[in-house]
Amino acid sequence: MKDSWSQRVARARQLAQGDGPSASLLSSYADLLALQHASFESLKKGGPASGSLERDLPAVREQVPPLLHAIAEKGPERLAKEATALLDDYARHAGHNGHDGAAIDQLLLAYWHTPSDQNFFGKAALQPYASWLAESGVDPLDRATKPADNRCPFCGGRPQLSILVAASESDGGGRQLLCATCLTVWPFRRVVCVYCGEEDERKTGYFHTPAFDHLRLDACESCKHYLKTVDLTKLGLAVPLVDEVAGAPLDLWARERGYEKIELNLLGL
Ligand SMILES: [Zn+2]
Ligand SMILES: [Zn+2]
Repeated sequence: MKDSWSQRVARARQLAQGDGPSASLLSSYADLLALQHASFESLKKGGPASGSLERDLPAVREQVPPLLHAIAEKGPERLAKEATALLDDYARHAGHNGHDGAAIDQLLLAYWHTPSDQNFFGKAALQPYASWLAESGVDPLDRATKPADNRCPFCGGRPQLSILVAASESDGGGRQLLCATCLTVWPFRRVVCVYCGEEDERKTGYFHTPAFDHLRLDACESCKHYLKTVDLTKLGLAVPLVDEVAGAPLDLWARERGYEKIELNLLGL
């Protein structure tokens, strides 16, 4: 089970039309997903990836300016300023001796080697690249991450969210994690904290509200981390990456209670 970029865009547009508390958030996210989709298609068309970001950088870098223009125009103030500065820097380098040392390159490489959910442009630009690698089965070559249950088996990325599916669809007893970087899903044990591995059921709990019936928040009292779970057995047409964002009020709720999210989503929530 894996969603396509066009399914993600369509789901975000659909949810943006509702009158829920996250409608405007989803409308921005739909625009962002559409740019990521275009970048994914363009990378695919450009021909085979090497798996080394350093080598693939010319192709990946080219995808970034449309994203920067969109954010400079419509993004939140802090990101818009950053986008404008990156565009200036991009133009300066393009006019001279190639892109060596350009700020965009540094930012992409920084995300690749040390993923951070605070590096918005890195994450936004590399999700399409990493998912292209995953789709074409080209292993990332220059990404040093330690293998662990709670890390993506393909790229070593952290989980963005968890998914519940019918038990037969996964060998994790019906639970999967979705990678925040390459969007791969992998099976994961059902009753255990994704962050610290706590197995005591008295310390791992979940919170649910009828307002988001197919979402729940899995929180751990041992490490105080949480992530959202999208229950596809309750709503099969949900697209986890997008429905997770639609549940933004739950993030607020968790933060007010002192829980920290394992990985912020692309919208910084
Ligand atoms: Zn991954
Ligand atoms: Zn924990």
